[in-house]
Amino acid sequence: MTQFYEPRFTAQQEVGEAFLAMRAEAIRAGFDLTPFSTFRDYRTQLRIWNNKFSGKKALYDIDGNVRDFCKLSPPEVIECILNWSALPGGSRHQWGTEIDVVDTAAMPPGYEPKLLPEEVRPGGIFHPLHCWLDANISKFGFFRPYKFFKGGMYPEPWHLSYAPLSMQVVKLVTPELLTRITEEAEILGKELVLERIHDIYVNHITNFVSPDEQ
Ligand SMILES: [Zn+2]
Repeated sequence: MTQFYEPRFTAQQEVGEAFLAMRAEAIRAGFDLTPFSTFRDYRTQLRIWNNKFSGKKALYDIDGNVRDFCKLSPPEVIECILNWSALPGGSRHQWGTEIDVVDTAAMPPGYEPKLLPEEVRPGGIFHPLHCWLDANISKFGFFRPYKFFKGGMYPEPWHLSYAPLSMQVVKLVTPELLTRITEEAEILGKELVLERIHDIYVNHITNFVSPDEQ
């Protein structure tokens, strides 16, 4: 993994170089294409999961509206977490090939990106950037694995993946690997997760939107 400094982000060397080339072209088009979230280690993903399972962090529906945590059973909570966040050990952000992006030039002072649908739909703060991304990311090897809803992860158009590496890494993730990681983890809802590892593998790991479907 390589630490890049301008702008600051962590990614595999080849991914970072491809991103910086894309960023240079975006800047020429008037967009300050900036990584918002890139490499996340296992512990960070576990903290996100446990905070969501315990109700400390909000759960959202497909439109980005906050769900009522109190009305959800534990299996429903897990389903809701998985719509927006990966199982620890199953996150593409652990690979160093994934970059969530924003347009810093479009942000008023003090603006905190939310990475929610309202920001990328027509009229949203990052919509112009996304029109540019539509036309340009494939030239640099990137695609959107969560471009539209296929029954697992909700659409996350801001999540870009570097195909030459990520299409190889995804093959290394197996139900057996996810089972082993989960068994050893201090993860909330462990038994419920273990019951549905196969479903998580099929619906949340392998059914991303492939480069050919973009
Ligand atoms: Zn992401």
